[in-house]
Amino acid sequence: MAMQRTSTPFLTLLKRHYSNVAPTTKLFIDGKFLDSQATDWVELHDPATNELVTKVPQSTRSEMEAAVESSKKAYETWKNTSVLTRQQVMLKLQHVIRRDIKKIAANITTEQGKTLADAEGDVMRGLQVVEHSCAAGTLLQGESLQNIARDMDIVSYKVPIGVTAGIAPFNFPAMIPLWMFPLALIAGNTMIIKPSERDPGATMLLMELLNEVGCPPGVVNVIHGTHDAVNFICDNKDIKAISFVGSDTAGKYIYGRGGANGKRVQSNMGAKNHAVVLPDADKSATIDQLIGAAYGAAGQRCMALSVAILVGETRDWIPEIIERAKKLKVTAGHEPGADLGPVISPKAKERIFSLIESGIKQGAKCPLDGRGIVVEKYPKGNFVGPTLLTHVQPSFECYKEEIFGPVLSVMFADTLDEAIKMINSNPYGNGTAIFTSNGSHARQFVNEIDVGQVGVNVPIPVPLPMFSFTGSRGSFHGDLHFYGKQGLNFYTETKTITSLWRKGQAASNKPDRENGQ
Ligand code: NAD
Repeated sequence: MAMQRTSTPFLTLLKRHYSNVAPTTKLFIDGKFLDSQATDWVELHDPATNELVTKVPQSTRSEMEAAVESSKKAYETWKNTSVLTRQQVMLKLQHVIRRDIKKIAANITTEQGKTLADAEGDVMRGLQVVEHSCAAGTLLQGESLQNIARDMDIVSYKVPIGVTAGIAPFNFPAMIPLWMFPLALIAGNTMIIKPSERDPGATMLLMELLNEVGCPPGVVNVIHGTHDAVNFICDNKDIKAISFVGSDTAGKYIYGRGGANGKRVQSNMGAKNHAVVLPDADKSATIDQLIGAAYGAAGQRCMALSVAILVGETRDWIPEIIERAKKLKVTAGHEPGADLGPVISPKAKERIFSLIESGIKQGAKCPLDGRGIVVEKYPKGNFVGPTLLTHVQPSFECYKEEIFGPVLSVMFADTLDEAIKMINSNPYGNGTAIFTSNGSHARQFVNEIDVGQVGVNVPIPVPLPMFSFTGSRGSFHGDLHFYGKQGLNFYTETKTITSLWRKGQAASNKPDRENGQ
């Protein structure tokens, strides 16, 4: 008994000791990994076990100011490096990212929870942007027109805008920073990244790789934090543009505050992506696609298909959808055969549970309820099993809110026209898909749907980097989208030069009345 009495406080002390000495996430300033002097820290727990992984600092003001100073200084040199030099950095970077893809993916699985396969996909989709940026010599070309008047020509250049900033969400910790800094850098800008405080590890590994490939110090700096760091970025006069990806609340706020301070802002926000299933669709392939797109990455994808509109007799497909969903393996992301990992936090799990509950209370049926799932090996994990809510109505809370979990809501429609109307009435415009074998129906859908990214028999129509990520309406604030030509336009200013060089008057180019000058 006596031993037991003394062991409890000892264990508590030991636990406290280990939590005090838990590894901390560093800052990356001027090419160096630095310990933060922060007094406030965010604890980051493995979503599968809720064990402490690292502590993430709320960067101090002087650390954030140091990041800006470093970015400003680096910009003076970086903007004048040749395009070929910048391209070389990206060519080397794509090589080392590919080499380290498993290491980065493992970090993502530990910090974010998704399966290793999903985590590799996360890195791969970002890597494609790095690869695309290697075509800078072509991508950054401006325009020119000769003889717009006598002896007068116009050229335009895409010039960098200065110090830029990227604010990232938790759900794609590698891909989203890679949507941002490769294009910002290739265009000659420098960038400060504030990764999600919930999983900054992938960004830090990418910074190690930037150092390895010889990217000069200060070209990218990383600060950490939450609201204060975001406010600092929005208000700092030396930061000229902000790329944001995340929730509506943060996105609207940053767009407003950054914009009010004269910054260029692109803000990708939440989503409610509908799949329309027509009776002429290939049943087996469509159900597979639905399952993958609704439940993959535990539904924590902005392009997840979270609503299926079953048209006509496809409502009879529900039992088969349930059967296939039941086969998905829910466990820690690094376990072999895992289909769904945990959601990011106990709070996220609670929120998902309460949205399922509210759906049921408002009249939805729940023939597959993932709330009771038990993952024996990981009893403390934030697991939610695949869930199906049917008979969902537009007025339901679970429909109005982005659930961001493995929950597929099912609605019914009698016709394609009705389904299109339902989707166009939803405020979000991130993505949608139609499943059909009828080209005429597909074409009608593509033409009439008011959503920025449309899949035809493709469940998650995320455009490749030579196009842009074109979520619309409530899912996006701004003018220029992420990556592709629009991404480069976001990170550049167009400078147009009109030149008059009179033939034979090299020494004295006098103003020309003909051109009103
Ligand atoms: P989040 O908005 O909570 O966090 C995103 C970033 O904003 C983080 O760096 C965070 O520190 C900061 N932040 C959070 N709340 C803030 C606030 N109130 N004010 C200022 N800054 C704040 O988003 P998340 O939960 O990390 O990510 C999930 C969301 O991101 C989902 O809504 C998802 O749809 C969306 N998302 C959208 C896209 C897209 O391209 N449209 C892509 C990925 C994720």
